[in-house]
Amino acid sequence: MKANITIMSGDGVGPEITQEAVKVLQAIEAVFDHDFSINEVLFGGIAIDETGTPYPEETQKSCKDSDAVLLGAVGGPKWSDPNMKVRPEKEGLLEMRSDLGIYANIRPIKTYPELIDNSPIKNRYLEGIDMVFVRELTGGIYFGEKKKTDESASDICEYSKVEIERITRVAANIAQGRRKKITSVDKANVMATSQLWRSTTTELIANEYGELELEHIFIDAAAMHLLSRPADFDVILTDNLFGDILTDEAAMLTGSIGMLPSACLGEDSFGVYEPIHGSAPDIANQGIANPCGAILSASMLLQYSLNLKEEAQVIEQSIAGVIKEGILTKDLTNSSYVSTEEMGTAVSKKILKI
Ligand code: NAD
Repeated sequence: MKANITIMSGDGVGPEITQEAVKVLQAIEAVFDHDFSINEVLFGGIAIDETGTPYPEETQKSCKDSDAVLLGAVGGPKWSDPNMKVRPEKEGLLEMRSDLGIYANIRPIKTYPELIDNSPIKNRYLEGIDMVFVRELTGGIYFGEKKKTDESASDICEYSKVEIERITRVAANIAQGRRKKITSVDKANVMATSQLWRSTTTELIANEYGELELEHIFIDAAAMHLLSRPADFDVILTDNLFGDILTDEAAMLTGSIGMLPSACLGEDSFGVYEPIHGSAPDIANQGIANPCGAILSASMLLQYSLNLKEEAQVIEQSIAGVIKEGILTKDLTNSSYVSTEEMGTAVSKKILKI
C-alpha cells in the first residue's frame, strides 16, 4: 500500500520518540512491502522559533495532503509565558485540531502484566484491563461562551444532537470490532446537555447498532468504577470535560504515561496520532524517554487511517514481547534500563524477524 504520512515531531522529547516510531513504521514497510512516503514538518515551539507561528502554512498543507499525521509533543518552558502572542498548545494544537476537523479523541488503556507493579493501584484490580476511551473533543464546556467579572463567572456547556450522534457513531464502530459494549458517561440527573446526550446515544444505538450493549453511568460513579472494576469496561464514551478527567485517571491505572497512545479522528479515515504525554522538558535530550506511546500511536495510525489491522497488531505484539523480555526504559524500572533508541531498535528488530 502507498500512503503519505506527515511527521510533526515538535518539542522536548518529541523528536527523540518520534524518530523511534518512524523506525518502527519503516520496519513494517519492509516486512509487509508497503510504500510510506514520510514528510517531516515544523510544529509547535520549534515552528514559532523558525517561522513565528506554531502551525505554519506549509505544515497545514502537508497535513491536508496526507493520509495521516504522527505527532510527538509540543510545548515547554521557552514558550510558556502566557503573554506570548502565540503559544504551541493554543495556536498550535487547538488550531490544528479545528483546522483538520478532528473531533473524536481515542485513547486505548491496556495493562501489561510485567508493568503492573508500577501502578499505584493494587494488582488484583489491574489484570485484564483493555478499554478504549472515545472522548468528544471540539464541543461542550471548553468551547462555550465564557463570562467573567470580579464577582461572578460562567462557562456555557452546549452540545447539538448532531455532535452527539457523530461521536456516538465513532464509539459504536470501535465497539463493533471489540467486546461490543459501550459505557456512556454523563450527569443526566442534573445537566440538560447530559439529558440530550443520554437520549441521543440511546436512540442512535437502538436504531443503528442493535447488536451493541449500551450502559449509562454518571460521571461520579464512573470515577469510582474505573478504580473498583476497571477490567469490566470496553468502550467508554464521554463528552469533552468528563473525558478529559477520566482519561487521566485511567492512565494512572497503567502506572506509566510513556506507554499510552492516542488518536484524533474526524469524518473520514484521516487522523492525527500522538502519545498522551507532553514534551517532558525535564528529560529531553537525555535519551531516556519511553518511545512506546509514540510507537503505539503509529500502530493506531496503521489501524484507523490505513486499515492495516495485521500490521498494527504486529507492532502491539512486538512491544508486548520486548517488555516481557525485560527490555525497559528508565520510567518502567528501578534497575538497568535501555535508551530511547535501544527501545525503538528492539521493537523494530522483533518486527523484522517475523
Ligand atoms: P508531560 O507529560 O510532558 O510530563 C509529565 C511527567 O511525565 C514528567 O515527569 C515527564 O518526564 C514524564 N514523561 C512524559 N513523557 C514521558 C516519556 N515518554 N517517557 C518517560 N517519562 C515521560 O507533562 P507536563 O510536564 O505537564 O508538560 C510539559 C509540556 O508539554 C508543557 O508545555 C505542556 O503544555 C505540554 N503538553 C503537550 C501535550 C501535547 O503535545 N499533546 C500534552 C500535554 C502537555
